[in-house]
Amino acid sequence: MNLDIIFKAKTPVKFGGAGKWKQDDASKLFSSSQSMKFSWVQGLICFDCGAAFDFQYLLKCTKCGGLLDLVYDLPQTNWADLTDNNFQGMWRFHKVLPIRNPAHIVTLGEGSTALIPAPRLARSIGIKSLYLKYEGTNPTGTVKDRTSSTAVSSAKQFGASAITVVSTGNAGASLATYAHRGEIPSVIFCYHRGDPIKMSHMSLMASKFCVFEGEYDDLIRSVDQCVEEGLAFDGGATRNSFKHEGKKTIAYEVTEALGTVPDFFFSPVAVGEIFIATYRGFDEMQQMGMVDRMPTLVCCQSMQAQPIVAAFQSGQPFRPTTIQPTIAKGVAVGDPGPKGPRVLEILRQHSGMALAVSDAEIQEAQSLLAESEGLWAGPTGVVSLAALIQAGRNKQIPSNSSSLCIITETGLTSPYPPAQGQVVKTSLEDVRRLFSCV
Ligand SMILES: *Cc1c(COP(=O)(O)O)cnc(C)c1O
Ligand SMILES: [Zn+2]
Repeated sequence: MNLDIIFKAKTPVKFGGAGKWKQDDASKLFSSSQSMKFSWVQGLICFDCGAAFDFQYLLKCTKCGGLLDLVYDLPQTNWADLTDNNFQGMWRFHKVLPIRNPAHIVTLGEGSTALIPAPRLARSIGIKSLYLKYEGTNPTGTVKDRTSSTAVSSAKQFGASAITVVSTGNAGASLATYAHRGEIPSVIFCYHRGDPIKMSHMSLMASKFCVFEGEYDDLIRSVDQCVEEGLAFDGGATRNSFKHEGKKTIAYEVTEALGTVPDFFFSPVAVGEIFIATYRGFDEMQQMGMVDRMPTLVCCQSMQAQPIVAAFQSGQPFRPTTIQPTIAKGVAVGDPGPKGPRVLEILRQHSGMALAVSDAEIQEAQSLLAESEGLWAGPTGVVSLAALIQAGRNKQIPSNSSSLCIITETGLTSPYPPAQGQVVKTSLEDVRRLFSCV
C-alpha cells in the first residue's frame, strides 16, 4: 500500500520519555485548590502492570506495552460544582476531560443530545421505562463527534502537526470535520465500499482523502507504524486514551438528566470506546459520591462481528474473529485490539450482559423506532435497541426495570431500500380524494 502521501510532521509528536508518576506530584495537585482547575486530569496508568506516567501523549505502556488510561484527581462533588455552563455541550464537563487549557478545545457544539422517553416502545417490549440517548443530532450525525472533539483538542494540546484515522465511514467524516475546524491537517483513509454520502463528506473535509481497496489489517499496520514514528496524531480508536474520553460524557449527561442511573445501559460495541468510556463515567460518578450504583452494562454486537459476545458467552478468553458483512458497518470489527479484552474484563467484573443481533433484527428495530417513536436512525445506530428488543423477547430483563439505549447515529447518511410512494394524478379532484383517508 502506498503511504508516501502522509504528511511529514514538522515537529514529530514525542513518544516515550515516561517518568514514574510520583505520589508527591499527586498531593501537590490536590492541595493547590483543585476545584479551581480546568481539568482534574493527572496522568496515565497502565491497566496491565500498574505503571504510572506523567500527563503526556503516550499510546502504550513503555514498560509492558499495555493499554493506558487517564487518571483524574476526583473530589467528592455534586452536579453544580462539576458542570460549567459557560461551556456548551459536552464541554460543560471539562473538569473530567483531558484538556488542560480551554484555548485548545476544538468544538462544534457536540454533546447535550436529547434524552428521549420511548413509552410506546417500552410497552411493546414489556418493560417499565425506556429512554433513548439520541446521538444523531451531533454535528456530523453520530456519536463519533464526541471523540473527534477530544482527539483533535488533544492533538492541539500536544502540538501535533497532523491527525489520521482509518474508517468505514462515520469516524472519517467526523474526525476530518473536527481537524478542519481546528486547522490541523488530516489524512483520512476510507474503505472503498463506504456509504457514498459519508465519503463525499469526508473528501470535502480531509486534507488528504485516501480510498483503500486492499486488506484492512495491512493498512492499519502501516498507518499505526506511521503514527508511532510521530508523522501524525492517532485519531484511531484502539489505543489513544485521550480520544475515547469524549464518549464518557454520555454517562454524565444521562445520569444528570435522569437524576439516577438506569437499571440497564445498552451500548453498541465495535472497538469498545463507547462501552469503556461510559463505564469510566459511571465509575467516576461513584467515586465522586454522585451515584451509589452502576447500571448493568450491556455490550451489543452484530451476529456477523461478535468477538466479545462470543468470548463472554463461552467463558473463554478474548480472541479476535474474522467477520462477515453486516448492514451495521459501524460495528463491523473483528479485532478491536487491546480494548476487546478490556471490555470483556469490565463485563465479567460487573456482571454485565452481552448480546448479538442479526441484520434482520437491526432492520426491524430501525422501522419499529421510526413507527413507534418517530426517530429515524441508521442500522449501526439501532444495534443497542435491537439487543434490548431481543432481551425483552427472551425475558432476560425484569419487566419492572428501566433501560437506556444509545442510538448512535442519524438515519440520514445510510442507504435504505427506496421508498414506495403512491403514484397520484395532479387534478384537484384526485388530490382532494387522497385526504379523505387520513
Ligand atoms: C463507531 C460507532 C459505534 C461503535 O463504537 P465503538 O466505540 O468503536 O465501540 C457505534 N455506533 C456508531 C454509529 C459508530 O459510528
Ligand atoms: Zn504496563
